[in-house]
Amino acid sequence: MASDSEPKAVDPAFTKSVVDKGAETITLCFQCGTCTGGCPSGRVTAFRTRKMMRRVQLGFKDEVLPADELWLCTTCTTCDERCPRGVKITDIIMTLRNMAVKEGYMAEAHKNTARSLMKSGHAIPLGDAFRKMRETLGLDSEPPTVLSDKEALDEVKKIIKATHFDELVG
Ligand code: SF4
Ligand code: SF4
Repeated sequence: MASDSEPKAVDPAFTKSVVDKGAETITLCFQCGTCTGGCPSGRVTAFRTRKMMRRVQLGFKDEVLPADELWLCTTCTTCDERCPRGVKITDIIMTLRNMAVKEGYMAEAHKNTARSLMKSGHAIPLGDAFRKMRETLGLDSEPPTVLSDKEALDEVKKIIKATHFDELVG
């Protein structure tokens, strides 16, 4: 991740590239701060939604793509529901994450989730406690998903290879 002390350059092409990826509503943001006020992540972290939108509008690519806070959004969509300008904030954040990953930035927690998906077909691994709980309920310990269907898991792995998802995660 980039150091805060490094000078940041304005890159108008960055704003255009975000807009071109379907995030044209970013231009409607008038910086009211409603998104920040209702953001559950912002209540407990340094993530400020309004600031993120402004940085994109101004073309501060080096402050957006390598930023740790880009990965602090939970995609709950509260901001989308409240934004008075109809800015598709969650979609914009997802677009920014896709761009960040292509440039080699991804939060470690998200990498671990992706690795779990690549290995087991599930983003969240099934723990022993859940297996036992299923047995207690008279169910098979493995649910009828990729966990108990090797062919389906192989298909998931094929998709991961074909889309080069594994290369992005590293
Ligand atoms: S709520 Fe909408 S208009 Fe207001 S700062 Fe957030 S994105 Fe911009
Ligand atoms: S979608 Fe992300 S930015 Fe919007 S309110 Fe939820 S956590 Fe905050």
